[in-house]
This record gives sequence, structure tokens and C-alpha cells, in this order.
Amino acid sequence: MKSPFSNEFLAEIKTALEEQKTRLTRQLGDLTDKETGSAFPNYGEGEDESAEEVATYDSNLQLIDSMGSEMRDVNESLGRLEKGTYGTCKYCGEQIDEQRLRARPTSSSCVACKKALTQEM
Ligand SMILES: [Zn+2]
Repeated sequence: MKSPFSNEFLAEIKTALEEQKTRLTRQLGDLTDKETGSAFPNYGEGEDESAEEVATYDSNLQLIDSMGSEMRDVNESLGRLEKGTYGTCKYCGEQIDEQRLRARPTSSSCVACKKALTQEM
């Protein structure tokens, strides 16, 4: 399948997605424990420290959750770039506006479908 976008545009999007991926990987790395890979911080053994750990753990989990889904979007977009299906709406199959993709490279639906979808909710 031939992509309707120019090579320059696709290269630009690819760079943006890869930068986003690098940033997410770094941020996720900062949030998770280097040795255990767990999001649970270890401030110490005392009761106060434990309460603080749980609070941090909760907010970290939310962050990790949202970054995880962002990461999934980025990876899916990179996958679509590879396959040459990038930039088409997953609902109606129409080409997504370049400006929209520039502003948000992980967009997978056109403005009209997104609008229809948001109004349904
Ligand atoms: Zn659409």
C-alpha cells in the first residue's frame, strides 16, 4: 500500500515518534526501581516512610499507566509507519490531516470520527 504522504513528512513524523519514545522510556525508567523494575519506592523501614512509599507508589502507578498507554500509541504509530498504513483513520479509512498528525503524531482517527466518537460518550 502506497502512503499518500511525502517521504519528508513521514521522516519528520518518524523522528517525532522516536523522540517521544526515547523520552517515555527515560521517564518510565526514572519511575521504576532500577534493580527490581518495580514502581514501589524504598524510602526506609519506618512506618512514616512506608506511608509515604504507598502514596508515591499510587501516584507513580497512575503516571506509569498513562505513559504506558502513550508508549503503546507511539509503538503502534511506528508500526503503521513501517507498514505504510500510517495516517489513515482507523474508523473510516480516510487520510488524516497532516496538520493534525504534526500536532499529534499518534493520532489514529480523523477529526470527524474523533468528534463523532467524543460526542457519543
Ligand atoms: Zn475517520
